Amino acid sequence: MKTDNQTLNERQLRHVIQGMSASDGDGVRLTRIIGSPQLDMFDPFLLLDTFESDNPDDYIGGFPTHPHRGFETVTYLLNGRMRHRDSTGNEGVIEPGGVQWMTAGKGILHSEMPEQEDGLLKGFQLWVNLPAAAKMTEPGYQEFPPASTPLEQRDDGSLLRVISGTTDQGTTGPIRNDYTQPVYMDVQLPAGVEFNQALPAGHNAFIYLVDGQLTVGRSGQPATKPLLATQLGLLSDGEGLHVVAAEQGTRFLLVAGKPLREPVARGGPFVMNTREEVMQAFQDFNNGNF
Ligand code: FE
Repeated sequence: MKTDNQTLNERQLRHVIQGMSASDGDGVRLTRIIGSPQLDMFDPFLLLDTFESDNPDDYIGGFPTHPHRGFETVTYLLNGRMRHRDSTGNEGVIEPGGVQWMTAGKGILHSEMPEQEDGLLKGFQLWVNLPAAAKMTEPGYQEFPPASTPLEQRDDGSLLRVISGTTDQGTTGPIRNDYTQPVYMDVQLPAGVEFNQALPAGHNAFIYLVDGQLTVGRSGQPATKPLLATQLGLLSDGEGLHVVAAEQGTRFLLVAGKPLREPVARGGPFVMNTREEVMQAFQDFNNGNF
């Protein structure tokens, strides 16, 4: 049978996930998309929350001081501002287009509070697992304001903000991470525009649709079901991704990372490899060792 290698190596839309409403922190309303009964995890991604509201009652309580151990939290905003403070003395404000990539490592206590009393707050928090060898590493940050996350403007009208990874046109995001070698891009495509991006084979990849619609695959291929706004599309393995924006254009997050393939033991804000390690984390936290 004749096979078309080019097509074989392209990622397809494998599964579509719709998040579920949840509440976390001090009554913050959000949508949990990864880390829910529908999708427990997508190695190395442990959780994806989106929040979007212009009603302060939905977000003003924020996320008062809480601990983390064993993984990384990635905060990226489209609208609004978030102030964070932590137990090691770090403090800063995350702004739209900027990113905070926090390596919790062996433990950190922090708060994440909206820096606004009204207006639209819209953004994402992604949890990325750490390998066993790095779970007890010193905590650290990679934090970049919007001016330090490059924008790539293409001739076809596309606009990409690159947090991590390198686009096919050579724009590289500022985040460095050898554990999972992540790709994190915020992509806006005008109507009908086709977007191509190489992704390392074997890495898990997903698209979160912020606005509009798109189809995964090349233009001219038989149309597949479009991915709609607020849906998460899990991609099959492959080397290349091709998507086509629908008539109204689209905005999406493209995220990929190397799966760790290790046992995962979760206990609230702690993600370790074994139940014993999670119990130890609770003990360390209760003994004030964070
Ligand atoms: Fe947190």
